[in-house]
Amino acid sequence: MLMAEESKDLCSGCLVNCCEYIVINIGEPEKYSDVDRMIWYIFHKIPIFIDTEDAWVIEIKANCQHLDEKKRCRIYDHRPDVCRNHSPQDCERHGDGEFYNHLFTTKDELLDFIKKSPKYKHLIKDSK
Ligand code: SF4
Ligand code: SF4
Repeated sequence: MLMAEESKDLCSGCLVNCCEYIVINIGEPEKYSDVDRMIWYIFHKIPIFIDTEDAWVIEIKANCQHLDEKKRCRIYDHRPDVCRNHSPQDCERHGDGEFYNHLFTTKDELLDFIKKSPKYKHLIKDSK
C-alpha cells in the first residue's frame, strides 16, 4: 500500500486527469428509446463506453472544485470514498491497458455496434 504522499505524487503531471470528469453507469439498452437517449448523449459530446466489466457508462467533463492548479487534490486526506477507490496504482494512466472494451463517440459507431450485436440488434429493427 502506498502512503498518501507517494500516491499523490503518482498523479503529478497527469494528463488523464480523472478529477476532471465523472463517470455514470447508465445500464445497458433494453429498448429503442434507450438507444435513442444514448444518441442524444453523443450529440452532446458525451462519450459512451462499455467498460471491461461490461457496464455501459457515460463520461461527463466536470472539474472537481478541490483540484488545485498543479492538478493535485486539496482535500486528499478527506476525499470521498469514490476517489479513494480509484487507485493511482492501477488507474487509466498507470494500470495495464484500456478500461473499456468499446467506446462510442458518434451515432454511427453506436448504431454499427448495435446492429452487429446478437444481444442488441433487435432493438433497432424498427428505428429510422
Ligand atoms: S489517479 Fe491516475 S488518472 Fe487520476 S490523476 Fe492520478 S495518475 Fe491521473
Ligand atoms: S476530491 Fe480530490 S481526488 Fe476527489 S475528484 Fe476532487 S480533487 Fe480529485
